[in-house]
Amino acid sequence: MNLFVTGGAGYIGSVFVEEACNAGHAVTVFDNLTEGHRSAVDTRAKFVQGDLGERDRLAAAVKDAGTEAVIHFAASALVGESMTNPSKYFRNNVANGVNLLDAAVGAGVKKFVFSSTCATFGPPERVPMDETLPQRPINPYGESKLMFEQVLKWYRELHGLDFVAFRYFNAAGASAQFGEHHRIETHLIPNVLKVALGQKEQVDILGTDYPTPDGTCIRDYIHIADLAQAHLLALAPNQSGFFNLGNGEGFSVRQVIATCEAVSGRKIPAIEKPRRPGDPPRLIASAGKALTQLGWKPKFTRIEDIVATAWAWHLKNPNGYRD
Ligand code: UDP
Repeated sequence: MNLFVTGGAGYIGSVFVEEACNAGHAVTVFDNLTEGHRSAVDTRAKFVQGDLGERDRLAAAVKDAGTEAVIHFAASALVGESMTNPSKYFRNNVANGVNLLDAAVGAGVKKFVFSSTCATFGPPERVPMDETLPQRPINPYGESKLMFEQVLKWYRELHGLDFVAFRYFNAAGASAQFGEHHRIETHLIPNVLKVALGQKEQVDILGTDYPTPDGTCIRDYIHIADLAQAHLLALAPNQSGFFNLGNGEGFSVRQVIATCEAVSGRKIPAIEKPRRPGDPPRLIASAGKALTQLGWKPKFTRIEDIVATAWAWHLKNPNGYRD
């Protein structure tokens, strides 16, 4: 298929583009490179540098690509930042997303695949979390993604644009070629691995008084190659709706640090710090619907294996991407 991929120069997008090219799709990447990296775009894909705020250029790019499906990764995606700059989140994730929907409708696109998040749920009343839980986000990031989920339903009903929306739990790991490099790194695993690489003295544990067994937040880490495969399955014409994507197992911040120590064989000093505003204590997926309805089967189910792929990439690319 002809795929139009926003955010294809970003962390998750880059690995999706690689897998989509492997599967024989023709890919156009649209990315403004504020977060993404030009060298993270698979050389088999066409690259257009552009911003979702530029409605006319965007509409032309979607048409020019002969787009059959849009895969929308581009977003602002930091819980902490969303608590201090909500405007950025509602503008980029909602308003600019609507520009993309209009471009898709204008070009007669039939399928829209959206990167949503477990942050749309807020602190859940039970784990593992399936799709029937109420959605009550506690930060503007989760709220902005939930708002766009609602917009998707209306565009399906009123414009016939079908969609699949994935609520990712914590994306992690790397392929041999593409990995995680944010210019300002706030995520746990890459920050822990920076300490293992000797680039940082210690990792901060952000909150040790959560109602969890060791007092630190619990997350469900899912490999980006497995996320990419779910997106490829979503392209089938009979697939539609919302899916939670995770491994169904949770790991605390302290457990992640211990795993990184074991995988790297290096000591990783940690320092206890206050909570980061907006963080729910425990998020664990139930991906049963994706397993049965999409036929999705994650390959990386062990946290050690996920971290090992990230560690291999960071060892090979200690300074990340060159541009
Ligand atoms: N975290 C931490 N130290 C860091 C970065 C993150 O303790 O340097 C914690 C963070 O508070 C959260 C968990 O690790 O509880 C995962 O955070 P991350 O930013 O990787 O993903 P999020 O769950 O926010 O999407």
